Amino acid sequence: MKHTFKIFRYDPAKERQPRYQEYQVEAEPTDKILDCLNRIRWEQDSSLTYRMSCAHGVCGSDAMRINGICALACQRLIKDYGEGPLLIEPLPQFPVLKDLLVDLTAFFEKYRGIWPYLLPDDPAPEKERLQSPEERMAFDEAIRCILCGCCTAACPILEDNQQFLGPAALLRAFRYLFDSRDRQKGKRMELLDDENAIWGCKTHGKCTEVCPKEIQVTQSLGRVKKKIYDSKKAP
Ligand code: SF4
Repeated sequence: MKHTFKIFRYDPAKERQPRYQEYQVEAEPTDKILDCLNRIRWEQDSSLTYRMSCAHGVCGSDAMRINGICALACQRLIKDYGEGPLLIEPLPQFPVLKDLLVDLTAFFEKYRGIWPYLLPDDPAPEKERLQSPEERMAFDEAIRCILCGCCTAACPILEDNQQFLGPAALLRAFRYLFDSRDRQKGKRMELLDDENAIWGCKTHGKCTEVCPKEIQVTQSLGRVKKKIYDSKKAP
């Protein structure tokens, strides 16, 4: 069956305005959206630009907006979207480099800004830093994050405040704040105790709705807020 794809096209180096271009693609209901984009690129229009790598929901590089909702093109199937034309757009909140390809520089700068690594206060042990299964479970879900950017792109706070760290960076901050091997909790909480950091989150929950790894992002950010709040109450 033929499906219509209406795709955002824009080359800022050559065009003054974005436009939408339609393509007809022969596809089965079980075909992935990414497979259809590949078919367009390989068989109809090699100028169509987007990011992809593993095509199996592991690398997170093919995040885009499909019928208005941020998702991974390799995880979504034709049958997920009914009969009508499929609207394919780049992730919102990020500058477009070309077509569906966005500039993630600011996204990764924010990510690096939350110290996404262990901060111990002792020399490295001969083998590994030990942790019990219970301690590991305290942040287990956050480990599944693939930094696809869907949550940050879907976050309504960023529409008005581009300084806000966004859910992906804050989720990574949560992961280290709740890691028993990290020894700089105070320093981390100081960093996060800010309107552009954890208090910028107003619990809209869009991040959780779109996360392709089904991580309870909003809930984890709530645990960060509570930890900071409790630390201030403590004598
Ligand atoms: Fe992607 Fe989910 Fe990680 Fe956000 S939390 S970057 S949506 S995997």
